[in-house]
Amino acid sequence: MTFAGIVGHTRQIAVLRRAVASGRLHHAYLLVGPEGVGKRRVAEALAMAAMCERPADGEGCGACGSCRRFLSGNHPDLVAVAPPEPGDDGPRTAATRKRRTIKVDDIHAVRALTRFAPSEGRRRAILIDDAEDLGEAAAGALLKILEEPPAGTLFLLVTGRPMALLPTIHSRCQSVHFGPLADADVAEVVARALGPGEETAAWASGIAGGSPGRVLAMDLGELAEARRRLISGLARLDGQGTVAAFAFAEEILALPLDLPDACALLVSFYRDAAVHRTTGGTGRLLHADLAGEIAAVAARLSMDRLRRDVAAVDRVVAGQRHNQNRQLAVEGLALELAGPAPNAS
Ligand SMILES: [Zn+2]
Repeated sequence: MTFAGIVGHTRQIAVLRRAVASGRLHHAYLLVGPEGVGKRRVAEALAMAAMCERPADGEGCGACGSCRRFLSGNHPDLVAVAPPEPGDDGPRTAATRKRRTIKVDDIHAVRALTRFAPSEGRRRAILIDDAEDLGEAAAGALLKILEEPPAGTLFLLVTGRPMALLPTIHSRCQSVHFGPLADADVAEVVARALGPGEETAAWASGIAGGSPGRVLAMDLGELAEARRRLISGLARLDGQGTVAAFAFAEEILALPLDLPDACALLVSFYRDAAVHRTTGGTGRLLHADLAGEIAAVAARLSMDRLRRDVAAVDRVVAGQRHNQNRQLAVEGLALELAGPAPNAS
């Protein structure tokens, strides 16, 4: 993994490359930002560059012995620490993840290792992913190491929840903050991951919220099917009142999606409908393959009404953050979206 192969985060990467190139790497970095935006990849590129025998312009050369071992995945001086993998209880997604803690024994093992020089290169890298999952004892043990940083060792802590880390660990690390990726960058990452000829990348980027990792962790076949059901339900809503609204609500509740993801899809349909209205159907749609359904929504709703409906969806998303009852929220939303369109023009 090289910096050059990473999409987005150019400012953060430039800072880190300068630090490598000038030989002024801090001994510990805390990479902070939303889940699934590529923090771990940046940490890996930094580790590779830091251990490279002939870094060029702050980037690992990819050809020296150290880089080759790094890229083959068995560099003896790269130590990855993370919470234990889930067993039979399913994939580790944002919704289903169970908090697991990094064991204090793992940190003690790191400490023991840092008493020796790196086995080959200039430096050893300790990569701690999901650092928010450090248990109390493990965090204390890590803090002790960071207070007297061992020579030749680079600590890279990656976290999506910095507030869960001890402030004393923060203060021992150089923080690098990452934001969500732009939609175009998300589409590029998703397209690279899915391979050529995959139209999913375009619309999936629209609901990723800047996090390609979030979309790639979903079952994309299931997501595509849910998308078709949702748009046809939306296209059928035509001021038909309560019966149609409750049917639509039932459909939303039956989708194999978290409610915020279903809402993100709805908003992306309205976005497309707005583009359709303002460009007369010639603008670029996220859901280009569903242009017929998008046109039906666009024909029914004025721009004012589109804005109102998006605001209604946004309110549901906000309500979910406060544990609002899911069914009531969806039924209320469907009634609002199905309501007559007085402003239609
Ligand atoms: Zn190299």
